[in-house]
Amino acid sequence: MPTVVLNPGHNGGNATHTAEINRQVPAGFGAYKACDTTGTNTDAGYPEHAFTFDVSLRVRSILRAHGVRVVMTRYDDTGVGPCVDERAAIGNASNVVAVVSIHADGAPSAGHGFHVNQDSRTPDGATQATVAKSDRLGHAIHDALVASSGLVPSTYIGQNGYYYRSDLAGLNLARRPATFLELGNMRNSGDAAQLSSASGREQIARAVAAGILAYLNG
Ligand code: ZN
Repeated sequence: MPTVVLNPGHNGGNATHTAEINRQVPAGFGAYKACDTTGTNTDAGYPEHAFTFDVSLRVRSILRAHGVRVVMTRYDDTGVGPCVDERAAIGNASNVVAVVSIHADGAPSAGHGFHVNQDSRTPDGATQATVAKSDRLGHAIHDALVASSGLVPSTYIGQNGYYYRSDLAGLNLARRPATFLELGNMRNSGDAAQLSSASGREQIARAVAAGILAYLNG
């Protein structure tokens, strides 16, 4: 049975534990970053940490129904962290076939849509074969999001829903196939309406799960 790691961004206790989450931890390529951050929220106050946790639970239940073993980097929405390097270590376990980080963005309100972040460098300890699998994983989820998530490829960042970057610890530390999703812009009124509704999150979760399953079956 394949094991997929779902990494819901941030955590509900982060905002009240500033010292813990500001601790500097290894972020790959010799750089250091804060342990974790609070994340963003909609203008009405729906927090990103709640969104990422809810969507991850929904994705998990769909994957489980298809015989996939799912490990989460956190199992509640009231704790602190874990730090980005600890999250990456969970994803680097030898039996893991895919690591999917789930976030939503807090960008200027005029922009909307999702983007799939991919590492623009080869992470330390990762092989070219792993990088190719990360690319395939990101593309599979991208295509499923286009087909059925209700979100469009980002109008404000990257190209056609892809953004290649080198500053995300979760990707820089990954030795397993990994991708990092920004599932809409919480500061955009249209995206916020979908992200704040259970049915909107279910639609997004079904698309993410469909993409992961397409990758696993490809
Ligand atoms: Zn985030």
